[in-house]
Amino acid sequence: MIKAVSTLPKPTPRATDPAVLAAEIVERLTYRSGKNAAAAKPHDWLAAVINVIRDRIIDRWIASTQETYDEGGKRVYYLSLEFLIGRLMRDAVSNLGLMDEMRQALASLGVQLDLIRELEPDAALGNGGLGRLAACFMESMATVDVPAYGYGIRYVNGMFRQEIHDGWQVELPETWLAHGNPWEFERRESSYEIGFGGTVEPTAADGSGDDARIWKPGERLIATAYDTPVVGWRAERVNTLRLWTATPIDPILLDRFNAGDHLGALAESNKADSLARVLYPADSNPAGQELRLRQEYFFSSASLQDIVRRHIQYFGDIRTLPEKAAIQLNDTHPAVSIAEMMRLLIDEHDLSFDEAWAVTQPTFGYTNHTLLPEALETWPVPLFERLLPRHMQLVYAINAKLLIQARREKNMDDRAIAAISLIDETGERRVRMANLAFAGSHSVNGVAALHTELMKQTVFADLHRMFPERINNKTNGVTPRRWLQQCNPELTGLLRETIGDTFLDDTEALSALDAFADDSAFQAKFKAVKLAKKAALSNLLRERMGLKIDPTALFDIQIKRIHEYKRQLLNIIEAVALYDQIRSHPEKDWQPRVKLFGGKAAPSYHNAKLIIKLANDVARVINHDPAVQGLLKIVFVPNYNVSLAEVMMPAADLSEQISTAGMEASGTGNMKFALNGALTIGTLDGANIEIKDHVGDQNIMIFGLTAEEVAAKRAGGYNPRETIEGSRELSQALSAIASGVFSPDDRDRYRALTDGIYDHDWFMVAADFEAYHTAQRAVDALWADEPAWYSKTVRNTARVGWFSSDRTIRQYASEIWGILP
Ligand SMILES: *Cc1c(COP(=O)(O)O)cnc(C)c1O
Repeated sequence: MIKAVSTLPKPTPRATDPAVLAAEIVERLTYRSGKNAAAAKPHDWLAAVINVIRDRIIDRWIASTQETYDEGGKRVYYLSLEFLIGRLMRDAVSNLGLMDEMRQALASLGVQLDLIRELEPDAALGNGGLGRLAACFMESMATVDVPAYGYGIRYVNGMFRQEIHDGWQVELPETWLAHGNPWEFERRESSYEIGFGGTVEPTAADGSGDDARIWKPGERLIATAYDTPVVGWRAERVNTLRLWTATPIDPILLDRFNAGDHLGALAESNKADSLARVLYPADSNPAGQELRLRQEYFFSSASLQDIVRRHIQYFGDIRTLPEKAAIQLNDTHPAVSIAEMMRLLIDEHDLSFDEAWAVTQPTFGYTNHTLLPEALETWPVPLFERLLPRHMQLVYAINAKLLIQARREKNMDDRAIAAISLIDETGERRVRMANLAFAGSHSVNGVAALHTELMKQTVFADLHRMFPERINNKTNGVTPRRWLQQCNPELTGLLRETIGDTFLDDTEALSALDAFADDSAFQAKFKAVKLAKKAALSNLLRERMGLKIDPTALFDIQIKRIHEYKRQLLNIIEAVALYDQIRSHPEKDWQPRVKLFGGKAAPSYHNAKLIIKLANDVARVINHDPAVQGLLKIVFVPNYNVSLAEVMMPAADLSEQISTAGMEASGTGNMKFALNGALTIGTLDGANIEIKDHVGDQNIMIFGLTAEEVAAKRAGGYNPRETIEGSRELSQALSAIASGVFSPDDRDRYRALTDGIYDHDWFMVAADFEAYHTAQRAVDALWADEPAWYSKTVRNTARVGWFSSDRTIRQYASEIWGILP
């Protein structure tokens, strides 16, 4: 047990006035980086500033950790293979309340805060929504005072950097660590051995009913922790994001080197190296590679060893773990943790199988993020067995327990038993990670109301019948610090001047803005802010892409991963139809519109990459046609990431949330746009439904099939060809694309893509086209009526405070984790 050492001298908390900050920055530059302030480069200033900020965080960090121990409180461990945290400097300075002081301090040194801020690399340790959610949750847990650790992998190269060459996506490595990472602290003392492969042997006591086994891994490596402090709003709590890196086991390597096995030693070292190198650039389909399973086990094992060690150190008895630790699995990527916890408890802490289960199951919670069958992780049994032989045994043992219970207590039939089983026996035998996560957790949650309902009806129908209390909903949220205060200080300023500061601590207090929605003086200010943010985006597009964009046009934005279910294709086809109409009826009163797209496609996802090329091909033709000059422009903005989102969200007039109903679990981009005063055009999918409930039917443009209607159409009787032929706009747009109007260099480039719509139209692009097209014309009409437009968009900002991740985290805390913040 650790004692409070009250006799140690206390460090003096750092002062925060600009003069002290400036002096310290120069000191860091000189004595830490060894640079002359007169010759320092912008990167040197950035590193010095981050160092100075860090010092103001560390006191709170140590205090936050100590308080939790002293109070014997429960902690949350959030396990996620992705944390899409983006830049941290502005977030930390702003949450510390030092924005003005830091700006002044730097100005006194002749340095502009906003310029060096741009130099900080985006920590792109995630693909999209799932990783960004983990980042918002970390910030909200610190804000609402939940003691928490985030656990993940410190990828050397995060998500790939996207360039567009001749309209095609090109993937380049993201070297975010090139200038070092001043935010992280290496913790060599927190290192754990991670094994793979090898054999499992009985213990000496075997035969006496002992459940323990001895696993002798064939390969071992070391996981070492890197900690990054996560500052909550007003900096009252600072939590830890602990990311693992892999290194070879030194003594063995040295032995092998000394024994002359240089190549063997090098191979080991490369193996460790490659483990934490790449983030799998897939978001909705599993990377089937062995390396992915290795990553999943690597970070799960390191995290659980860390959690168990800490518990034993402070509380002594591993049996009390569920009272002191809540482990949340962000999707199935860390689901092997269930088996790893059982292994640690049985093999290393001498619990029986049943005792271990009684500790494991109440400790874990699992969040499901997708219903797409291709995205539900499964691993071939032979691979799982070869890499994790002991865990395979435990999976079988858990499965036996589960299936006996299903048959004996719940009287389930063979079909239901086969669906519940942790092993998929149809075809090649595979381990179902979602079923393992479900069985091993006391709570299973979806991320929006519709998604949770569909979970009960589809993927987990039988498990839900067996454990009807287990599934619950926690609708996603976003942190209003990053997604309103920091990315839109202009709007934040206007809101403070209009409704006071309460909303800074309670986002739902934005509802006070409702009273100003029809106030023309307020609308004028709201519009001025929007125009300023659109001008800022236009500037960025001019600098990066050499484009000239009129900020007074309607900015219609779809930014998210490129995926067929998200239906960027529907948006592009509609743009082609609109283009055609503008050319045929130039006399009509068209509303100038800029359609902006952004998003990465998984490198192996052929159709997604083709959709990017199509957007660029269509853009080239439309943007160069004098007949539509000033009325319609298409832009594909390369390398969508958190920092780009921070510029684009506040600049949107129209937010495109047009997924095929039933396929988007929640979405969080939809929330960021609405908070910044954009109107949503969207389907009744994911959290759009709840956004509609909050903002009101009058203040959102809903169109298209419902999830139920999509399911009914797919079940039979849907003839897309007939639908296409029934719509002149759609058939003309499709045949233009199919016949090569936009791809004269390769006329058949899009033939297969359009054939897919004619043949089966799985994503209901044709089925929803007319409704979407009509809704877009209603958007035009509304845009032309300025008071009506701003009355609606102001109400969006006013009414979406509920979608703060602070609310989401409070719900997790009280309903899943058993913590009342
Ligand atoms: C919010 C966000 C997402 C998620 O967007 P969706 O529209 O919900 O898919 C993805 N990437 C980045 C960079 C984000 O900020």
